[in-house]
Amino acid sequence: MELFNTLSQRTEPLQPLNDEVTLYVCGVTPYDTTHLGHAAINVYYDTLIRFLRAEGRSVNYVQNVTDIDDDILRKAREQGMTWDELGRRETERYLDDLRALNVLPPTNYVRATDEIPEMIAIIEKLIERGFAYEREGWVYFSVASDPTFGALAEAGGYEGYATWLATANERGNTPNDPRKRDPLDFVLWQARQEADEPSWPSPWGQGRPGWHIECSAMAMHHLGPQVTIHGGGADLIFPHHTCEIAQSENATGQRPFVQIWMHCGMVYLGEEKMSKSLGNLVLVRNLLKTCSADAVRVLLLSHHYRDAWQYIDADMRRSAERATRYAAAATHAAASDTSKAEPSDIAQQAHQRFYDALNNDLDTPAALHVLDDLAAAAIHGDTAQATALRELGDILGLRLQA
Ligand SMILES: [Zn+2]
Repeated sequence: MELFNTLSQRTEPLQPLNDEVTLYVCGVTPYDTTHLGHAAINVYYDTLIRFLRAEGRSVNYVQNVTDIDDDILRKAREQGMTWDELGRRETERYLDDLRALNVLPPTNYVRATDEIPEMIAIIEKLIERGFAYEREGWVYFSVASDPTFGALAEAGGYEGYATWLATANERGNTPNDPRKRDPLDFVLWQARQEADEPSWPSPWGQGRPGWHIECSAMAMHHLGPQVTIHGGGADLIFPHHTCEIAQSENATGQRPFVQIWMHCGMVYLGEEKMSKSLGNLVLVRNLLKTCSADAVRVLLLSHHYRDAWQYIDADMRRSAERATRYAAAATHAAASDTSKAEPSDIAQQAHQRFYDALNNDLDTPAALHVLDDLAAAAIHGDTAQATALRELGDILGLRLQA
C-alpha cells in the first residue's frame, strides 16, 4: 500500500518497522460533537484499518480525547457542570455516534487526564536536553533550540517564521506572554491560574499540560517512539503536528517520530469550514434520523480523504440512493440464490480493482465505483458478484442491510 506523506509531499510505500502498523489519530475535545468533519476523519481511518486488516496486517490504533482544555472549562461553567462530568457525557455521545456509523473502536482510546505522568516525564526530558525552559511555573518549548523546527509546516504550505507566528496567533498562541523567550515558543505546562481550575502536581507546581504535549505523550506511551502513521485533520499540520514532532524527536533523539503523516481534508458547510467555533455544523445524530449509516459512509467515502469538500443536501440524497442500490443488490441476490456461488471472472476482476484502488493512497471514490458495477450485476441475481459486493462493502464498513 502507498500513502501520501504530508512531510515529504510524496506517495510512499507503507513499511512498518515491524509486523504491526501503528496508527495514532488526534481525537476530539469532547463538546458539540459529532459533526460531519469528525465523522469524515473517523470513517477514513476506519476504512484504512479495515482494509489493512483485510490484507492480513495487524494494526495497533490509538485515538485520544482531549478531556481538559480552556474550551471544556468554559463550556462546563456555562452548563453548570464540572469539567469531568461534561467531558464524560460528551465523550460517550461521541462514541455512540461513531458506533452508529459502524466505526470500529480503537485498540486504545486514551484520555489526556489519565496520562499526565507520561507528559511530565517528556517535559522533564526536554528541559534536561535544553529544548525547554521553565518560568514561574510555566514550561515552554524553545523553537530556536531546534533547527529542524517547522519542516512539516513548510511542507504543508506554511512558509516561514512570520506565517507560523500569524497562524499560531490565530489558533490560541499568546505572543505577548512576558515569560516567553520567543513569541512562537509554545506551552508544555501551564501553571494553575484560578482556584477552581483543575490541576495536577508537577515539578513546576500545580498546573496542567499544554495541548500539543498530550499527543506526543500518548502516542509514544502506547505505540513507541516511532509511529507508522499519524493522522488528523489538515488543520492540525500547524501548529499541533509540527509541535508534536519537535517535542517527540527532541525528547527521544529518535527520528522520524512518524513515518507517514496522513492528513484529511476539511469539510465545509457553505463557504466556511465546519467548526465548533463557527457553529456551522451538520451533526451526525441529526443526519442519522433520516439517513442510514451506510448512506453517510457512502457520502464520506465518495470524497478522497485528502480533498476538502462541501456538504450539500443533494449529495447526501444521492449517496442514500447509492447505498440503497448496494443493499438491494446484496439482499436480492442472496434471496434468489438457488445454487452455490461460483467465483466469476468479473467478480475476481472487481476484487482486484477494489484492492488496487485502496492500495493507491486509499482511493475510496474508485473503490465505490467497483461496488456500483457489482451492484448493477448482482441486482440481476449474479450471486458471485453479490458475494463480492458484501465482502468489499464490509471493508468500507457498509452493513448492506435492506
Ligand atoms: Zn493531537
